Amino acid sequence: MPTLFLLLGLIMKNIHGSGHALSDIANDPFDFTFNEIAGAAGEHEAKSLYSLLYKSGALKKAHTIWIKETMGDADAKKYIFELYDDKCIETVCIKRKTGTTACVSSQAGCPVRCVFCESGRNGLARNLTASEMVQQIVFLKEPINRIVFMGMGEPLYNYDAVIKALRILRDRNGLDFPTDGVTISTVGPIRFLKKLREEHMKIQLVLSLHATDQKTRDRLMPGTSGYAINETIEAALSYSKRHNRKLTIAYLVSPGINDRHIDIKQLIKWFKHEHVMINLLEYNQTSRRIFKKAGGKDIERFKDSLESCGLEVNIRARRADKFKRTAVAQVVCFPGNSPAPFHTPLASR
Ligand code: SF4
Repeated sequence: MPTLFLLLGLIMKNIHGSGHALSDIANDPFDFTFNEIAGAAGEHEAKSLYSLLYKSGALKKAHTIWIKETMGDADAKKYIFELYDDKCIETVCIKRKTGTTACVSSQAGCPVRCVFCESGRNGLARNLTASEMVQQIVFLKEPINRIVFMGMGEPLYNYDAVIKALRILRDRNGLDFPTDGVTISTVGPIRFLKKLREEHMKIQLVLSLHATDQKTRDRLMPGTSGYAINETIEAALSYSKRHNRKLTIAYLVSPGINDRHIDIKQLIKWFKHEHVMINLLEYNQTSRRIFKKAGGKDIERFKDSLESCGLEVNIRARRADKFKRTAVAQVVCFPGNSPAPFHTPLASR
């Protein structure tokens, strides 16, 4: 079986003198698109390398992330990956009727610092590379048919690496992952939403909204304070119209904070005539009790009010809870984190 070094030896002989340094490709082959490798070494060699990386699995030793721990059960499994600099990230696999969804991280930590999320508590440690995102998929111990960028981090704040990872994952010489099986969940930085709108990828979009007025949203999600809420919604709707996709709005319900009559009125005003589905989420209580937990009846009441005015609304069951019951379920990226580090609670996928 050819090893990475043998293959790269072959590549060296065929160097065309352009593109990326072959030593960089040898050090971290998962970080390169097919075209980048073809540019450096030729199309035939790129095909061989992609096949070894993504089809036969013969080059799995070329990894730069390691599974440190797994927890959960057959329905929902959490993988904790350790990175080269000792930071840790998570990937969660959720079984659905029609396959398995992998929820991947795009950053170590998160700069948005939502008050209801443990991932953002200590801010951003660093962006992940495209390779580190690709490897989260390659090294799972189960087949998946959906990818959601909804783990640790805000994917659009690591825009170039996320798009590059998608190009690698969907390349037909490798995993050939369909982009309509990909979802990006974002707090909606406007300039990146506009950029994403112009990409030729049919990605499903989830906008984490969680409030209907600027002041409340800025308080709940401090890292969004530079973005006007109306413009954020406009940009997200514009994306979904351009790509002919239903926009999902993630909305974590907190009694008295964002489920008031005025919130209902505003959601109806924004979305009544749009191709939108609102996902209502329940707060996954952590050690910091800064967000009042909504009871089942609170959420049902809120849902009924929105539905009676013609909106499509869904309540997502939480599945992250099972990790709380696991003794080892501590997120090790930052000391003291408790196990609920999901972009929006796991429920929204
Ligand atoms: S909910 Fe998402 S955007 Fe907010 S802090 Fe957590 S990971 Fe970041």
